[in-house]
Amino acid sequence: MKRRTFIKTTSASSLACTIPPVFSQFDYPDYSTDELMGKEVIDLFGDGINLRKEAYESFVEMKKAAYSDGFDIKMVSSYRDFYHQATIWERKYLRFTDDDGMEPLPAIDKIIEYSTIPGTSRHHWGTDIDIIDGYPKVSGDVLVPEKFEKGGPFENFKLWLDENSEKFGFYLVYTNESKRRGFKYEPWHYSYAPISIPMLTAYRKLNILRLLQKEEFLGSEHFTTGFIRTYIQDNILDINPTLL
Ligand SMILES: [Zn+2]
Repeated sequence: MKRRTFIKTTSASSLACTIPPVFSQFDYPDYSTDELMGKEVIDLFGDGINLRKEAYESFVEMKKAAYSDGFDIKMVSSYRDFYHQATIWERKYLRFTDDDGMEPLPAIDKIIEYSTIPGTSRHHWGTDIDIIDGYPKVSGDVLVPEKFEKGGPFENFKLWLDENSEKFGFYLVYTNESKRRGFKYEPWHYSYAPISIPMLTAYRKLNILRLLQKEEFLGSEHFTTGFIRTYIQDNILDINPTLL
């Protein structure tokens, strides 16, 4: 990733702060706990895009480049706040426990194969996107790994992303690395690194354990200290190492 991009982003998003020209972890802007947990109203840019300004601008550049190579990048999901994530979480929790008769802990384990605990989603940050190619005709769910693999409708789009997304600052988060734990491979989920790296750095300084234990959505009463510690280690931190 180009250092120039980092410096530009940092100075632009810090407004009143004086940012020295040399970039270090101490130059990161401050993010509030509510902002990091998706509970604060933040400025989002782009109709149907909904990203922080610099991420939005870079996304538009990537979309243009993809378009000239024959792909129509379609946003499936971008910013999502805490309350939206809580709705997703509770809907799944009820389906697995009430409808399917699962015990709370196995139900929670099943939810966190693909969905985050509210307050821990990278989609809360306005930096992360789930994208597909709008051109191929696709039936059923679009966000399934097979559709991005050999013979799938997004095979060529994924190859294009492998080749080009990082030039625009967008990095795959949940990679296909076999030793990786936490969330399963998500070939559609990219993160705008120049902002999400400092946000993750700030996030890691929070007492996530204590914050989650204070929450009161369905199932949260079953979160043990050990469970949350493992979740932080595996689901929040076992990602593409470039994004740490
Ligand atoms: Zn995602």
